[in-house]
Amino acid sequence: MYQLSICHLYPDLLNLYGDYGNIQALKKRMQWRGIEAAVSQVSLGDRFSPSDYDIVFIGGGQDYEQSILYADLIEYKKEGITEAVENGVVFLCICGGFQLMGLYYKTPEGEEIPCLGIMDHWTIGNEKRLVGNLIFSIEGLNQEPNGYIVGFENHSGKTYLGERGKPLGKVIYGFGNNGEDGFEGARYKNVFCSYSHGSLLPKNPALADELITLALKRKYSDFVSLQPLDDHLEANARKSIISRYIRK
Ligand code: GLN
Repeated sequence: MYQLSICHLYPDLLNLYGDYGNIQALKKRMQWRGIEAAVSQVSLGDRFSPSDYDIVFIGGGQDYEQSILYADLIEYKKEGITEAVENGVVFLCICGGFQLMGLYYKTPEGEEIPCLGIMDHWTIGNEKRLVGNLIFSIEGLNQEPNGYIVGFENHSGKTYLGERGKPLGKVIYGFGNNGEDGFEGARYKNVFCSYSHGSLLPKNPALADELITLALKRKYSDFVSLQPLDDHLEANARKSIISRYIRK
């Protein structure tokens, strides 16, 4: 029997707009296929051990919650997280979690807070929040129509990708990283970053399956592909949102 270990990082501090649903979606979609899912919670004061997990989830938080955990992140987790990323562990980082993977976060008051520096992006806090439904496309994602992802964003930070930064997708409707360059999220090795709350994975099962597939391929050399599930309810929900916001 295949088994994957999922780490929920700072579940007590970073969990906005149903982010926990991402863990539930991963767990359920694994269990429906007879794959064992073990979920661990890692928070303030805990060390992050890079070889203990196959999938790591970091959710979003307000500036206040983020400010509580910066010191802990750098002291207890930075080394382990960096090693895990470089070793191809699968990460899903939403909003505040996305910002933490980058170089720094500059608060609306002008204070520049160093982040993990694993990925080449940075975030500037603003007075005006970027809020609303978000639709973006991921090239090559096998989800109808056109690899479209639906979600919900609510952030004051505008994130910019550096020269080595690659977006996760392109904005179709909404703001995405900054409302200026048309990019949404970031991708590096097996790290997927997005501004999309919602929760993201229950609404977009193809992305959930992509994360599970990457983790299983990395762990088991004999793993080939996931058995398909009946996702017609999710597909109908996604299509109705897409048709509400995008004129044909
Ligand atoms: N504090 C960050 C911002 O407002 C992240 C918000 C979030 O995770 N939703 O930009």
